[in-house]
Amino acid sequence: MTERIVVVGFGPVAARLIDELLPAVRSGIAHLTVIGEESEAAYNRVLVADLGVGRTTPAALALADAAALVADGVDVRLGVRVRRVDRARQRVLLSDGTSPGYDRLVFATGSRPVIPNLTGLNPDPAAPVLPPGVTALRDLRDAAVLHSAVAGGKRVVVLGGGVLGLETALAAAEEGATVTVVHNGPHPLGRNIDRGGGSVLAASLRKCGVRVAGNARSVGVEHNAPDSGFSALLLDDGSAIDGDLLVLSCGVRPRTELAEGCGLSTAAGILVDHKLRAHHEPHIFAIGDCAEVRCPEPECVQCRTARGPSGLVGPGWRQAEWLADYLTLLASGAFAEAEALPPLPAELPGVIVLKARGMNMAVAGDVSADPWDEEALTAGAVNGRARLQIAQWADPEHGRYVKMTTRAGVLEGLVSVGMPRTSAELVQLFERGAELPADRSLLLRLDGPDHAAAAGSVDPSRTVCRCAGVSGTAIASAVTEGCGTVPEVSAATRAGTGCGGCHDDIKGIIEAHFQGAVA
Ligand SMILES: Cc1cc2nc3c(=O)[nH]c(=O)nc-3n(C[C@H](O)[C@H](O)[C@H](O)COP(=O)(O)OP(=O)(O)OC[C@H]3O[C@@H](n4cnc5c(N)ncnc54)[C@H](O)[C@@H]3O)c2cc1C
Repeated sequence: MTERIVVVGFGPVAARLIDELLPAVRSGIAHLTVIGEESEAAYNRVLVADLGVGRTTPAALALADAAALVADGVDVRLGVRVRRVDRARQRVLLSDGTSPGYDRLVFATGSRPVIPNLTGLNPDPAAPVLPPGVTALRDLRDAAVLHSAVAGGKRVVVLGGGVLGLETALAAAEEGATVTVVHNGPHPLGRNIDRGGGSVLAASLRKCGVRVAGNARSVGVEHNAPDSGFSALLLDDGSAIDGDLLVLSCGVRPRTELAEGCGLSTAAGILVDHKLRAHHEPHIFAIGDCAEVRCPEPECVQCRTARGPSGLVGPGWRQAEWLADYLTLLASGAFAEAEALPPLPAELPGVIVLKARGMNMAVAGDVSADPWDEEALTAGAVNGRARLQIAQWADPEHGRYVKMTTRAGVLEGLVSVGMPRTSAELVQLFERGAELPADRSLLLRLDGPDHAAAAGSVDPSRTVCRCAGVSGTAIASAVTEGCGTVPEVSAATRAGTGCGGCHDDIKGIIEAHFQGAVA
């Protein structure tokens, strides 16, 4: 019997699942159907802002080739929406009137942008249609809207001071648009960064040509005329920020509506167990932005501290790879082997890294405590547990700031602005849970003029590509085996295929290899 696997959604995570399931399709043990609401096959959504400012092309974003998949026997349905899942009959009901059946169903429905509640912006939450001149920057059409504004040197207003809003603002400003970021806290990245880091970050944004309007509560949007373009964002103090395009960057929400509609358990995302199976439903799985791994066992220690969906592509890709192995074993009838598969490894702790030219920032963990905040430093220091220690250095004039929050010498939080090498080292130490040198100033010196000696201390086994989870060792061995360019390394290892923030590091490894060979 051929196992019928139906995948709902054709984003980057579904693309990886399909890629990994192809051997099962080719061998005839699985029949695969993928249903994507967008008219294109999967593309790298992470680079949509880069596309919007004209730094890349739609072709460079492609992650799947629909024609090649069809030639392999995959049933690819583009521009078609799954309206409903009939669990009793194991069928999905599609917008084109058809209703394919499934043995295993995988939700890879991703997430959708949060549309703030503003006067003049009243979308239907189920199918948001934004007025002209307003975009949420999620897909290729949104990128085209941003592109025409940037190419025309228009005024772009970005609503939201999160990392995606800042990256979009910096890229658009660099490409010639007049950009204002509007956010409602005292500084951008208000939820993640401390006051010192946030202030230096805001000053650095201004230096890069981005206007920053903080403590600004937006209440509405104004249009030139009804049904015509956006003209201003209205604030609660009666002022307005004029512009030609409003980019909404107010976070995302997992798309759980289909799962809810067929009675599955959801929280922030579709609830799945450690095998990515929907609770109490062995035929249905969820991966990527729409999935929340939290098993139904009340005793599960791992799930006690579990968070909602990360909204990052890397964890989704690892889920897709794991699930492909699992589904392949199920399709081949190897049920015992499927159940014995090693569990999906835990993800590295979350680190926020700003991807922008000429500006570097990383923040992770809890960085709220200040060096002389006795109450915060002693909180949690019970039963022999060490108290928090804070090391902090600020040079606002030169756009540099570092904060290291440690317990027993191990980082619990970090902020680094304008210090790329320090930032890379701190992120590495944070991910490994390694102890910092007693003299914290050694870390600051990595960005000093004598950095070359310190740079030699980089751990070769560190994770270089966080999206694809590829280590420096794996990249170095691909280079040793003949890869001489970033695209070649990407093709061999998948490093650099996500956000692209590691391309310089990959280049560095290639150069180090060839310099070594010459020496
Ligand atoms: C501008 C931008 C920058 C980003 N930068 C980063 C970054 O630097 N690093 C990072 O890790 N992540 C980043 N992300 C997030 C990353 O893009 C997502 O984590 C990733 O796209 C998730 O992939 P997915 O396949 O789970 O979901 P999605 O990419 O959301 O794809 C889901 C697909 O399913 C389709 N779909 C949904 N419901 C249905 C239905 N009922 N029927 C048919 N089709 C349906 C949707 O139309 C969509 O095409 C960024 C995102 C954006 C928008």
